[in-house]
Amino acid sequence: MTQTDDFERTPGGAVLMDGKRLRDEIVADLRAEIESLGNPTITLATVLVGSDKPSRIYVRNKRRKAEESGLVSRHVELDADCTQDDVESTVRVLVDDPTVHGILVQLPLPDGLDAERVLDLIPPEKDVDGLTERSMGRLVRGRPGLVPCTPLGVMRLLDRYGVPTSGKRAVVIGRSTLVGLPQVLLLGRKGVDATPTLAHSRTTDLAAQCREADIIVAAAGMAGLVTAEFVRPGAAVLDVGISRTESGIVGDVDFDGVEKVAGAITPMPGGTGPMTIGCLMQNTLLAARLQGVV
Ligand code: NAD
Repeated sequence: MTQTDDFERTPGGAVLMDGKRLRDEIVADLRAEIESLGNPTITLATVLVGSDKPSRIYVRNKRRKAEESGLVSRHVELDADCTQDDVESTVRVLVDDPTVHGILVQLPLPDGLDAERVLDLIPPEKDVDGLTERSMGRLVRGRPGLVPCTPLGVMRLLDRYGVPTSGKRAVVIGRSTLVGLPQVLLLGRKGVDATPTLAHSRTTDLAAQCREADIIVAAAGMAGLVTAEFVRPGAAVLDVGISRTESGIVGDVDFDGVEKVAGAITPMPGGTGPMTIGCLMQNTLLAARLQGVV
């Protein structure tokens, strides 16, 4: 990947950590890599249950980017009123199919379906979302495996935009297994070497905690939670939260206020969201490698 330092800046002078641009670089690099491997057939299977509109859009974008990356997209859809057995048998077929290298079950599942039981079926080598018990265990143990795409995307943004992490203090807001928890593990990893704090809904004086941080990752799902008062001048602020409001998609970060103080900031949309998809594509190639296909 070509490193450039011609980073776009916000009106207040913060580096704009452009997730769309980096995702496009990742997709182009993957395409070139797959071509250089002689175009092996590497298949990402997506499973969509029900008709949730955002989920449908996410899956459509994932399938589109898979094809642009030189991967093969296979898609299975089930009705919202299907049974737990229907979902599990669908996933089992994909697990047993050696031509499927990555399996992504779009979450959340409709009410009444148990996502944990479905995830339990996916072997770590095909777990491109990195969300299963065994993938998380590998992450904790520092063993090779597939890492959840959203926190991985945050790490890629920090790296690409030259944000130093070693010896730096980080605050991650939100403790879900999807984002916050793996984010803390990735920031604290050897080689990254940040010192992360995991903040959540019961954290007292969140603003004061954040003001101590060189890096803030906001993944609470609360629109505009992180204001300029939370941010130490020059800090990097990465917005993961997504709230759908009448005026469109809003992040956890008050962009207009924070960009005047921050040293680097992600836009919303166009920051961590596209990176989640870019990392899913990278994870699919890694899954094929873990299976010895390439
Ligand atoms: P979640 O609801 O499972 O977790 C939210 C976390 O935020 C909880 O741990 C909670 O303690 C914490 N929290 C809530 N309100 C808080 C507050 N006022 N102060 C401090 N902490 C607070 O959600 P999740 O699945 O982790 O997702 C978080 C957000 O990220 C959601 O908005 C989701 O839509 C979004 N998301 C974005 C991407 C992306 O690609 N950008 C990917 C996944 C999730």
